[in-house]
Amino acid sequence: MVSELDFLDSALAAISSASTLVELDRVRVHWLGRNGVLPEAFRELATLPATERNATGQRLNRARDAIEDAVRKRRHVLEAEAVEKQLARKRIDVTLPGRGTLPGTLHPLTQARLRIEAYFLGSGFTIATGPEIEDDFHNFTALNMGPDHPARAAHDTFYLEETVLLRTHTSPVQVRALKRWPPPLRIIAPGRVYRRDSDLTHTPMFHQIEGLVVDQGITWAEMTGVLTDFLHDFFTDRLNIRFRPSYFPFTEPSAEVDLECFFCARRGCRVCKQSGWIEVLGCGLVHPQVFRQSGLDPDEWSGLAFGMGVERLAMLKYRIGDIRWFYDNDLRFLTPAPVASGP
Ligand SMILES: [Zn+2]
Repeated sequence: MVSELDFLDSALAAISSASTLVELDRVRVHWLGRNGVLPEAFRELATLPATERNATGQRLNRARDAIEDAVRKRRHVLEAEAVEKQLARKRIDVTLPGRGTLPGTLHPLTQARLRIEAYFLGSGFTIATGPEIEDDFHNFTALNMGPDHPARAAHDTFYLEETVLLRTHTSPVQVRALKRWPPPLRIIAPGRVYRRDSDLTHTPMFHQIEGLVVDQGITWAEMTGVLTDFLHDFFTDRLNIRFRPSYFPFTEPSAEVDLECFFCARRGCRVCKQSGWIEVLGCGLVHPQVFRQSGLDPDEWSGLAFGMGVERLAMLKYRIGDIRWFYDNDLRFLTPAPVASGP
């Protein structure tokens, strides 16, 4: 049997050199565990001569008490150290710069509008604005849509009073500009417009940009040039463009402008409804009646006008599938600058 002194010294040395709680537990099991050194020594007591049994038993008891005491004390020390370490790890350094501060970005619609405005400002246009609460005259009558004109029905208007309404398009700004500024003039009128409509591609409020050029001798060719250049600039690509005859009460002749579908390269897809073309804006030469309503002589002046939906252009440019995402205020949609991934 191991002598008591050897026994105790090596046990105490092992305990004091244990540097973690796990290690200390391993040492404890080795000496005090069910099959440990000390219980084994107690079992060997039975083999000793009766004369020695008593004294050896007492020495073993003292040794066991000393080892248990040393383990307890060492455990307290190691536990205190572990708490210290944890506190040091979790300490908050208030001098560190903050994390997770995201720079603000412009809303995708604002980005699209600013881009469109920048193009036209660079082409000699100025920006005009008008009221969102309009009267019937400026929204309809002056634009050649008299009280019984069927085109009024297509506008799904929000009326505030019998002749006061939320404007259904930015075209009334044309009328206000013609009355206010003597021609020649070149304006664009960006702004909010309202219609009773809501689905994947319509919201009750949306943004339009109206354009108007009035001068002497304005031709259809000038209009196609202005719009072709603009679309090539906005979509940063020389996509094919076609002018398709159409009808608007306030222009004559009128056309809708289609852009070659860049999702499918004109093979046909869901976005272009299998036609290979995407409608992007409406345009035409200013109707003589609009000049008359604004006090200008249609024999002296001629003009071109166009209108586009900002949401529609932004959806195409940034490949956004649902118009309502613009208004959900979801940061996952708003935070990455979509302008960086334009087609
Ligand atoms: Zn397509």
